[in-house]
Amino acid sequence: MSKLPNVAYFCMEYGLDASIKTYAGGLGILAGDYMKGVKDHDFPMVGLGIKWKQGYTDQRINEEGQPYDSYTNQQYDCLEDTGIKVKVKIRQRDVTIKVWKVVEFGVCPLYLLDTDIPENADTWITGQLYGWFGEERIAQEMVLGIGGVRVLRALGYEAEVYHFNEGHALFAGFELLREKMEAGLTFNEALKVTREEVVFTTHTPIVEGNESHTLDILMYMGANNGLTVEQLVSLGGAPFNMTVGALKMSRIANGVAQLHMETANKMWEGVSERPEIIGITNAIHTPTWVDSAMLAAAAGEGDLWETHMKNKRDLIKFVNERTGVTLDADKLLVGFSRRAAPYKRSNLIFSDPEVIEPLLKEGKLQIVFSGKAHPLDDTGKKIVANIVEMTKKYPNSVVFLENYDMTIGKALTRGSDVWLNNPRRPLEASGTSGMKAAMNGVLNFSILDGWWPEACDHGVNGWQFGDGKGVSDFATLEELDAHDLKALYDVLLTEVIPTYYENREKWLQMMKASIVSCREQFAVKRMLDEYYNLMYIKK
Ligand SMILES: *Cc1c(COP(=O)(O)O)cnc(C)c1O
Repeated sequence: MSKLPNVAYFCMEYGLDASIKTYAGGLGILAGDYMKGVKDHDFPMVGLGIKWKQGYTDQRINEEGQPYDSYTNQQYDCLEDTGIKVKVKIRQRDVTIKVWKVVEFGVCPLYLLDTDIPENADTWITGQLYGWFGEERIAQEMVLGIGGVRVLRALGYEAEVYHFNEGHALFAGFELLREKMEAGLTFNEALKVTREEVVFTTHTPIVEGNESHTLDILMYMGANNGLTVEQLVSLGGAPFNMTVGALKMSRIANGVAQLHMETANKMWEGVSERPEIIGITNAIHTPTWVDSAMLAAAAGEGDLWETHMKNKRDLIKFVNERTGVTLDADKLLVGFSRRAAPYKRSNLIFSDPEVIEPLLKEGKLQIVFSGKAHPLDDTGKKIVANIVEMTKKYPNSVVFLENYDMTIGKALTRGSDVWLNNPRRPLEASGTSGMKAAMNGVLNFSILDGWWPEACDHGVNGWQFGDGKGVSDFATLEELDAHDLKALYDVLLTEVIPTYYENREKWLQMMKASIVSCREQFAVKRMLDEYYNLMYIKK
């Protein structure tokens, strides 16, 4: 086999461990698992990200049951000073970027950029992940993109492929253009060469989730990096859309599940001169998320039920320590932890009290929730407040764990019996928490969205509900929600609950099928092989 190409991977967030607050959610978890998989399987790659001083918001719940945001300065022991510094001009002012290397968690070389050093006037840039203002976000993306390429040059790393994981990294493309134009190429010549080097992953099937900025603000910040307004418009339109820009600068792009590939191709069909968007389904770093005793038990070495019950009791203990609530290990326990974004409909299951109340009151069903809303997402915060209200109404059977993070994610995807997922299809690009659950023998009970259509064998390794209906099948979202709610209750009442309480044998078979059918297909090695074979290696 010929040598694999060297890859430089750019991402705003990396979820490596609960102790390093450099992530917000699924995008970061994916990038963190990616870096670990690269190291385990020895692929040629380095990662570039940001050392966030305060990370993403810490979620707290006040006396009235309302969530609020809190930020703390972090100290990280897992970073080593590389001694490298680079500069980027932001708003006409030189900003010095210090470069740290992550030395724990079993990752490939991963460099985190930091502006919080005494010589800078603009120490705030790397303060809060996904900052609040357009200018703040642009400055952060300039550090990652323009700064990131300069770090690669300072390291002497000869990247052959630049992988932009989400549009946030796009300004790296502007730096690649600038270098070539400075060496004498025209804009069009430089673009042609740059396109050959760049690949792009899109993660967001929601139009508003795809960031855009006015041309004025990009010029004011200096994010254009020497490009003219006309050149900017030719790449990202006006206002400048980061996803469109990234598509137009890349040789090939991908969505993060097969269904998401279709959604993304439709979503961006109006963009001229864009590359094909293929599908590479996300995956997880098994050693981080999956209990090896469960994998062994599914392979016949150990008692599957006993191993699961140990994880369930650990979760119950964890919940008790955090909330004081004591759940019952002999009763069905449903887990649900996700960002509280409206399309994920975290509180859907409570929509018809006539159906759900008897189950919660009798204790036939227990639900543990966790999930943060973005600081500016008031609808998401209302959803969290509503779930907190439900914990007061059903104190023995509904629990909310504040400040969702990797520790909570790990505990819930190991110790629940069932993993509930009910987004509005097709708005969940992939989802990876269900993969963690599946490999731990926690049965997925999910809308056919994201990765689940690729794995689901209904009644064999988990359940689907809603029959693949989605936002385009109904006149209004209310109708879709009503349809999905009915489907959720039907499967819950006629299949999930009866199987759990009356057919342990079948439940065990399903747990085993869940683990066996997912353990390779959704493990990071399959995903990395696909990125190299389908994206990085030129055909
Ligand atoms: C796994 C995980 C995610 C991603 O899960 P989704 O299925 O995309 O919601 C997000 N946050 C944390 C803390 C996780 O552990």
